[in-house]
Amino acid sequence: MRVGRPVRPLPHPDCDYCDAPATLARAGEEIYPYRDDHGPLWVCADCQAWIGIFPRSTRNVPLGRLADARLRELKGRLHAVLEPLAQAKMRRDGCSVYEARVKGIRWVAQAIDAPFPEKGSIHSLDADQCERAIAAIEKIEQKIGMHPSESAEDDR
Ligand SMILES: [Zn+2]
Repeated sequence: MRVGRPVRPLPHPDCDYCDAPATLARAGEEIYPYRDDHGPLWVCADCQAWIGIFPRSTRNVPLGRLADARLRELKGRLHAVLEPLAQAKMRRDGCSVYEARVKGIRWVAQAIDAPFPEKGSIHSLDADQCERAIAAIEKIEQKIGMHPSESAEDDR
């Protein structure tokens, strides 16, 4: 154990549901929720809520807020509707997929009147924001799917 060296305080998230401090868990540990290794996770065992850390983060910085089952499902759905838009934007504008994703999430934040998520990631959104974001994207997709002649009906 290294001693006598000043150490920056490490980020230590609290559970967003019960406010108890989350526990950093690694694959194979008892509270680790997955059988496979999905990298270290901040976990609240009581709430069955967790969040990953930034890849290669040496300080175990969480990706966002802890997510329970409902929020994990909503983030999955949001990612599923957002990712094709990011891919399309990347092809159309010749930008990187990372840039396209950040622009996508910025658009989503505006559409649902939420602050631009920290680090431009969906992991800081809560369940309500995810639901509204999915609805906003579905609405846009319906518009895109319309024939031009029908676009007069759009609700701007
Ligand atoms: Zn909790």
